[in-house]
Amino acid sequence: MTSTLTTTALTDAPLAPLLAADFYEFQSRLTDTEQRALTSIRAFLDTEVRPFADDHWERAESPRHLVPRIAELGLYGNAFPETWQFENSAVFRGWVAMEISRADPSTATFIGVHSGLAMTAIWVGGSDEQKAEWLPTLAAGELVAAFGLTEPDHGSDTAKGLETTAERRGDEWVLNGAKRWIGNGAFADLVVIWARDVADDQVKGFLVRTPAIGFTGTKIERKQSLRAVENADIVLENVVVPESDRLQKIDGFRDLAVVLRLTRGDVAWQALGVAVGAYEASVEYAKNRVQFGKPIASFQLVQQKLADSLADITASIAMCMRVSQLQDEGAQRDHHSAMAKAFVTKRMREVVARSREICGGNGIQLDHGVARYFADAEAVYTFEGTYDMNSLIVGRAITGIPAFV
Ligand code: FAD
Repeated sequence: MTSTLTTTALTDAPLAPLLAADFYEFQSRLTDTEQRALTSIRAFLDTEVRPFADDHWERAESPRHLVPRIAELGLYGNAFPETWQFENSAVFRGWVAMEISRADPSTATFIGVHSGLAMTAIWVGGSDEQKAEWLPTLAAGELVAAFGLTEPDHGSDTAKGLETTAERRGDEWVLNGAKRWIGNGAFADLVVIWARDVADDQVKGFLVRTPAIGFTGTKIERKQSLRAVENADIVLENVVVPESDRLQKIDGFRDLAVVLRLTRGDVAWQALGVAVGAYEASVEYAKNRVQFGKPIASFQLVQQKLADSLADITASIAMCMRVSQLQDEGAQRDHHSAMAKAFVTKRMREVVARSREICGGNGIQLDHGVARYFADAEAVYTFEGTYDMNSLIVGRAITGIPAFV
């Protein structure tokens, strides 16, 4: 299914110019159609997202008015044949995630939750009927979705520790428990809730339509990273969900792990976008800031930092490209995307720190283009598996020995 969107308009655009941060010209590996689509996506980001990102961030408000605009560009559900609007390519989807994050990591996270985690859960775990009911509507941005896995007492150890319960009573299930950090969770129309079946101890997925009796989503305040993503604490008290709203193809955490494998690669691309956004701002700043009578870009130590950042970005693009190629080839394994997420987020953290340093005191203020990336990097480093947990997934692949506990 394709929606009404502007695929034709997208493909009429000129090829997107290469980014200076794309030192080895990886973008040229995209098809012409994809590079034309990139031009339209960049134009949207430059006019409707980037100029307002700091204000949304400061007010800690999700730019919800963008939901239908992002749908018009065909950026939700791009991984699925039911809803994609471009040639299906994980490499291209990754590049788009990078571009969005380069403009605004919070907007990239919104899309990552709605289209990445929630829609992928439905695509991986839903019956044909469930996919037909939800995917086109979510792709059109008519409804907003969230993904509720993490709990107040269980983040890294959800596979074993998840405490939210699901009890079957006839044709219905009753959910009880609590979730934490759920992006879009206070205003989403649909929340995918992961709960443990009290009968067989297996983790199952439930499509909770909100508002629902017994469901409460409360925005988490005073957040200092990805402030324009509205995360929520969710409480479930005897929330009743019909069996027809249980994800029919999820039989345990192993099936949920498929969702995470597919989305973690995209988070690596998102982290790359954070690094590129901060790096670009630091280059600009270094060229314009004069100290000792010269632009600071003329000092060797500053050039060293820029060269290190560009090398980190270049290595990260290569890693992201390859993990997406593996996905396109059907060969991607959990440890592939875990390594990309761990490696790229670590490089990102170093790039944003160097970029902040180059901007001196101005580096901690929103108006100079680096502070938002610097702060946002911390959440990207932690969500969808911390650096440690993704490293342990790779460690298990290397040694054959799980070292999680
Ligand atoms: P913990 O698991 O408590 O970890 C704390 C520290 O201990 C980390 O450094 C970790 O690496 C380390 N650690 C834990 N176990 C081990 C071990 N065995 N070995 C070595 N080190 C270990 N979740 C959702 O379900 N849906 C969302 O939409 C969502 N969005 C998010 C958005 C933001 C902005 C943030 C910050 C989080 C979001 N999360 C979401 C939750 C996120 O996935 C978790 O924060 C993450 O999995 C880590 O869990 P935790 O915060 O409970 O940390």
